[in-house]
Amino acid sequence: MSNSMPTYKALEIELGVRLIHHASILKIIHQKAGINDWHQSSVKDDCKPYMNPNIQQNRNPGIRTALGFGKVTNTGWVDTALLVDEFTTHMKSKEKLMQATFEANDLQIDDNCVRYRDIKAKHIVFTQGVGGLTHNPWFSQVPLQQTKGELMIIESQDLHEKSIIKGGVFMIPIGNHRYRVGSTYNWKDQNEEPTQKAQLRLQQQLEKMIQVPYQIVSHSAGFRPTIPDRKPVIGVHPQFSQLAIFNGMGSRGVLQAPFCARSLYDYIEKGTPIPSEISLHRFKK
Ligand SMILES: Cc1cc2nc3c(=O)[nH]c(=O)nc-3n(C[C@H](O)[C@H](O)[C@H](O)COP(=O)(O)OP(=O)(O)OC[C@H]3O[C@@H](n4cnc5c(N)ncnc54)[C@H](O)[C@@H]3O)c2cc1C
Repeated sequence: MSNSMPTYKALEIELGVRLIHHASILKIIHQKAGINDWHQSSVKDDCKPYMNPNIQQNRNPGIRTALGFGKVTNTGWVDTALLVDEFTTHMKSKEKLMQATFEANDLQIDDNCVRYRDIKAKHIVFTQGVGGLTHNPWFSQVPLQQTKGELMIIESQDLHEKSIIKGGVFMIPIGNHRYRVGSTYNWKDQNEEPTQKAQLRLQQQLEKMIQVPYQIVSHSAGFRPTIPDRKPVIGVHPQFSQLAIFNGMGSRGVLQAPFCARSLYDYIEKGTPIPSEISLHRFKK
């Protein structure tokens, strides 16, 4: 978090849009043991800055909680959809973005550079997410997997909640009486379409958390690029140092990506070693 916030703040300034939305997280406490667990965790050094030790009473009649909430502060969410849109426009305006499918066969590796059609560059960084599973022959040693996730946007005129609520799922207020609800994890389903089963599961979890009417505005599915050890993977090809990989952001791309991008840049430009737990070196070719 300490690494990522300055990055998103700098992007807000560069792009002239609001990306960071501060909001506390209220974790629903279901059982008495949960109160004890909360108190114990909240006194740990690394949790103290975030976990309020006092259990919060529920003031929202639209939310169901028998025993109140554990409150996490200094938290929020980043509007990544807006970030991608605005960054795309920004890069296009500088004529630094080409939107096309990358074809591995068209990449030529020369001494100290790469050529792709009419582009010549010192390095190429592959940031393909799960696309790296099928479109990248150079990093096949990386045990990349895809973990399907589904989420819904709902609208409720009666909920009036400003905090992020965490029960069986997260419910994040995104404005205009809308909330993002999610998400699911499925390691087996390789189909990219949203499923009725996941929607039902999200609704079941949501209805344990709220007791007001709502409409589903949208329901979508995607794949998280995951490594079995749940760590990102960055580094350069053992033989061709012009080729770099940046992948495995898993379910925490927002938090991981700024640190990983800085680490990879520092390695390529200054030779600063990459922390071993996120390095490509942990996978042998
Ligand atoms: C339902 C769901 C909920 C999530 N919630 C959160 C959350 O709350 N917080 C969080 O931090 N993370 C969350 N994530 C995870 C987050 O989405 C990922 O960590 C993040 O998207 C990874 O970013 P990436 O750029 O590495 O890969 P991607 O976002 O997958 O981007 C890779 C891009 O490369 C492109 N590409 C691939 N191959 C090629 C090619 N050959 N040519 C051209 N383009 C190509 C793809 O089209 C894609 O645009 C969630 C994921 C899902 C599915």
